[in-house]
Amino acid sequence: MALPQLLICPVVVVMSSLLRDNPESTPICHNCFNLDLRLVKSSRAHVIGPDHCACSLDSIKLEQTAATGCKFCGLVSVTAEWLLPNRHHNIIPSISLISGKPLCIHLPFGEAHIFGTTPNVMTWGVIPYVPPFPASPQLRESFEFVKQEIYHCASNHPQCCERSVSTAPKRLLDVRSGIDSVRLTVSDAQSRERYACLSYCWGGYQTLKLTKTTEPSLSDSISWESLPILFQNAISVCRRLGIPFLWIDALCIFQDEDEQDEWRQEAAHMADIYQNAFVPIFAASSSSPDQSFLHREYDPNTTTTLVYDDTGSPLIMARQKHSSGLHLEYGRLPRLDPLERRAWVFQEYHLSRRAIIYASNEEINISPLLN
Ligand SMILES: [Zn+2]
Ligand SMILES: [Zn+2]
Repeated sequence: MALPQLLICPVVVVMSSLLRDNPESTPICHNCFNLDLRLVKSSRAHVIGPDHCACSLDSIKLEQTAATGCKFCGLVSVTAEWLLPNRHHNIIPSISLISGKPLCIHLPFGEAHIFGTTPNVMTWGVIPYVPPFPASPQLRESFEFVKQEIYHCASNHPQCCERSVSTAPKRLLDVRSGIDSVRLTVSDAQSRERYACLSYCWGGYQTLKLTKTTEPSLSDSISWESLPILFQNAISVCRRLGIPFLWIDALCIFQDEDEQDEWRQEAAHMADIYQNAFVPIFAASSSSPDQSFLHREYDPNTTTTLVYDDTGSPLIMARQKHSSGLHLEYGRLPRLDPLERRAWVFQEYHLSRRAIIYASNEEINISPLLN
């Protein structure tokens, strides 16, 4: 079957030609229901909540309705093609609509958010505005975004705030004070109230670790220079988010050969450590402690403009979402971060009440319990 014209045309040309009509006068498409939450909900959608529904769109029908003039189907079709070029028609895109959130397109091997660029405007009546995404995780607006999401979760999601009664972990790093005085401390009820924990790839020999020999000096003061860059990153994140304590396995569990009993005891508490953390930090994009997850630029190819306005400025954009490694067919995922190749991350992630994932194309805050 020849590809419909829509799929082989440059996105810009196709979409700008569909732009000129007034959304109010757009007829209702019986395939996508104009991506209008209320209309989709009352159709064949899977209703997830009062403001949330999902449905699949038949691939062949989608191309037909897009080619015959439904700009909404065009948007979904072009985004699916961008995510997975030349996909087989058996690969069916599905959409999630959540009131006020970007339109989400899912394919088996990827996911994208579609959003408008005009502040306080629902472009085409259904595509909400999303502010420009920070170019790097070390920027102030990036930390602000993360902080806002984390504290929103902590204050508004009762299900994300439940904790077990466990007393783990035994030791924590006190990261509150000045830059030179990070130190190892025996945890107490207060420090266990608000600590982050760090999930990362060990990647070879760890130079700085807790042993019977290093314990006195780590408890006294850990110099900033002696910390691998990734640990420095995690401490910076804690300080920017107002989290006073941090758990890092290499520095909080004895790593001596003859301290295996202690190691086993603490390792057995791993579930509690992640479950009770205020937030775990997943350094997904780094393959070792010597690789920074903050000092980097996001890949610009993970964002694209779908529709330009009459002046040639972006009007509707799509952003490829972070692909999780927790997928049956993960070998086909286009981007998989080093940390996500490790099986234990699955467990850590699912035990977490909320999580910050520093991935190669974005930083994400997730409430696993709500997903
Ligand atoms: Zn349509
Ligand atoms: Zn939450």
